[in-house]
Amino acid sequence: MLRSTILTLVTISFLSFASAQHPKTPSSIEIYESLQKLNFLGSVLYIAAHPDDENTRLISYMSNKVKARTGYLSLTRGDGGQNLIGPELRELLGVIRTQELLAARRIDGGEQFFTRANDFGYSKHPDETLSIWDKDQVLSDVVRTLRSFKPDIIINRFDHRTPGSTHGHHTSSAMLSMEAFNLSNEASAFPETAKEWGVWQPKRLFFNPGWWFYGSQENFEKADKSNMLRLDIGVYYPIKGLSNNEIAALASSQHLCQGFGRLAQRGSQIEYIEFLKGDSLDDAKDIFSGIDTSWNRIQGGKAIGAILNKVEQNFNFKDPSVHIPELLQAYQLLQNIQDKHWKRQKLKELKSIIEMCAGLYLEVSADTYWATPGEIVNLDIEVLNRSNVPVQLMSITNSKGLDIAKDLALAENTTYLFHEPLKIANQQNPTTPYWLIRKGSLGMYKVPESDLIGLPETPRVYELHFNLLINTVPITYSKPVIYRYSKPDKGELYRPFEIIPEASAKITEKVIIFETDKPRDISVLVKAGRDSLNGYVEICHPSDWKVHPEKQRVSIANKGEEQTVTFTVIPSKHQSEDYVSPIVHIGDNLYTKELIEIDYNHIPFQTVLLPSESKVVRLDLKKKGENIAYIQGAGDVVPESLKQIGYHVRTLKPEEITAETLSLFDAVVLGIRAYNTVESLQYKQQLLFDFVAKGGNIIAQYNTTYELHANDLAPYPIKLSRDRVTNENAEVRFLAPQHELLNYPNKITEQDFEGWTQERGLYFPSDWSEEYTPILSMNDKGESPKDGSLLVAKYGKGYYIYTGLSFFREFPEGVSGAYRLFANMLSIGKDKVELEAKMND
Ligand SMILES: [Zn+2]
Repeated sequence: MLRSTILTLVTISFLSFASAQHPKTPSSIEIYESLQKLNFLGSVLYIAAHPDDENTRLISYMSNKVKARTGYLSLTRGDGGQNLIGPELRELLGVIRTQELLAARRIDGGEQFFTRANDFGYSKHPDETLSIWDKDQVLSDVVRTLRSFKPDIIINRFDHRTPGSTHGHHTSSAMLSMEAFNLSNEASAFPETAKEWGVWQPKRLFFNPGWWFYGSQENFEKADKSNMLRLDIGVYYPIKGLSNNEIAALASSQHLCQGFGRLAQRGSQIEYIEFLKGDSLDDAKDIFSGIDTSWNRIQGGKAIGAILNKVEQNFNFKDPSVHIPELLQAYQLLQNIQDKHWKRQKLKELKSIIEMCAGLYLEVSADTYWATPGEIVNLDIEVLNRSNVPVQLMSITNSKGLDIAKDLALAENTTYLFHEPLKIANQQNPTTPYWLIRKGSLGMYKVPESDLIGLPETPRVYELHFNLLINTVPITYSKPVIYRYSKPDKGELYRPFEIIPEASAKITEKVIIFETDKPRDISVLVKAGRDSLNGYVEICHPSDWKVHPEKQRVSIANKGEEQTVTFTVIPSKHQSEDYVSPIVHIGDNLYTKELIEIDYNHIPFQTVLLPSESKVVRLDLKKKGENIAYIQGAGDVVPESLKQIGYHVRTLKPEEITAETLSLFDAVVLGIRAYNTVESLQYKQQLLFDFVAKGGNIIAQYNTTYELHANDLAPYPIKLSRDRVTNENAEVRFLAPQHELLNYPNKITEQDFEGWTQERGLYFPSDWSEEYTPILSMNDKGESPKDGSLLVAKYGKGYYIYTGLSFFREFPEGVSGAYRLFANMLSIGKDKVELEAKMND
């Protein structure tokens, strides 16, 4: 549902593209706006830590009202969060969020940059963040962006002065920005980028507070704002028929995997930015005061400005092509500018405006969206000049030696279609996000190619250069090869043209749990990147595990098709966690990657290649009780995980919760945030408590205090808090070492808390009545012990357990200890219940 809603929003917006992939064909109003931006020589860089941190109201205001070149530097790609629209997590979520940021920037007019920092999950303090990130590398990437983008103004989203008050990534982004502000002008700091881009001193740095930095709206209203600049970001743009905050809402609504689809706002709205550093403001209203943002800013710019300002003043909305001779004159003058930065930036903008004014349509579409190295694809090339300006197509070339001479005068509004073959190089690397090619660390992506660092996505390898003479002035336009197609129920569609390997493979299950030493079959899916694929698959496995047979043949007739082969895995005799990975042999070539497709309407199609592997876990596990009811909350994979270890799990809808139904189960597990997301659950509390009284067990996973729909969360009083332990390796102390939960049927030891991922747990209760026994104690560095992660109380004949431990994160990663502890939670008291049942018979 969400997907079709946002598509409608984008279609009705002022933007001329119907989907993320469709090429832009700008109206004369958009050409005029580009011209206004061409005539403004100033830039703003907004800096924060994650996708969605950015204030799109301010980015849109700077881009559309001030007309500044505006960028957003997000230190991370947001890999650590949760995904509300699909199964992708971690690096794949980072790929989606990268594209959502690009989609947001296409709407608010900004540009997007990143560093190599990885969003490793929640961090309480910048000290921790900067020790997990390679601080020097991230700082060097921030400095690189300052030197290449050359912002006059930097705006931080977060306050560098309040470490510990927000996510450590947030404060770190502000601290690194402050440091980079000075460093980027020092040639001795990170000399490689100083050499490449030159040093740069931004003029001033601001902090953009929201009311939440002050705790409440009232506090913010009362706060001293003498050092703050006041901007009305609610301005209306009659030329677009939209308010600035409407554009901002459209932009931030691209963050769909974070559930950011939101209502637009209109009308005057004040935003504040606090002056922190740099040249003080002479004019309290203008962040660019003291900076010449006209063409006079650059040597030789005056004559260019004279031409281009005249074009802007006399702009012909009915026929922008009349301006091409003047634009070409400015284009030639711009070639002689000494300043490399302005020459590069303004030539790019001006070239694009000339293209738009001439109504040029240049497109290269392949007859396939996927090709493999060595393949020959057929290109359909469309060339069209929709103006009466003389345009000569001299040649079509590419960087790989293609050179097709044309020397053709393009008659007005006449389509020229060419069909040309394109050979994909034999050694061509497949398409994949550049930051995922090599294995990085917990905190950093590894990118050895320095020219890629900071880029939002991998540049397209296959593009064609159209070498034109426009009014005798030579200009080259480069267009990536794309794939254009249509669907009867969707119309014209575009998707990127990508290079894939001839074979890829994946094991269908990512985590395979063996709770006994019984062998299990695994399915391997082999995908053909080309026709007539023949070879075999073998499974790489740890030495104390066995796999049969040794090889399986694959033979696939058609490109894009898949074949499934099955192997039998015999687990290790002892508890172990390890990996198995398929290897496809085609002739002398080995393929070890899995091809992942990411397909959503609001972003372009993404192809990602990752090492193909699945975790295998041999569990030493005993359990009591068989039938589990699961009540879904915000969504977790706990039911699937419990099925993997042999439980019968049935998901119950709130309306299915009756005394009779509950009597069928040994235990009820509540999904994460069940009392936050399922309002009707509060009316079922008595039934659930009665179930416990009669001998059932309830395991309630974490809830937050915000929007908690239950007066009595548990049978005995419990008070939730925001206590969390984010260090997944934090020491776990046993408060009740003799308790059944730690001893039966599985003996829990420190080892069971090894290998946990992302965090220990969150939203632990901070207070509870004396009926509860706290089982574990843990805390992050420098904090007081948190004892509420696992609470258990006897209630009638059964047990009520409340836990903020992150089982929902550990299960999908195959963490043995998490399974063993959970089995104890489900098993508690079950022996006695069985005994009593027998005695009653
Ligand atoms: Zn954030």
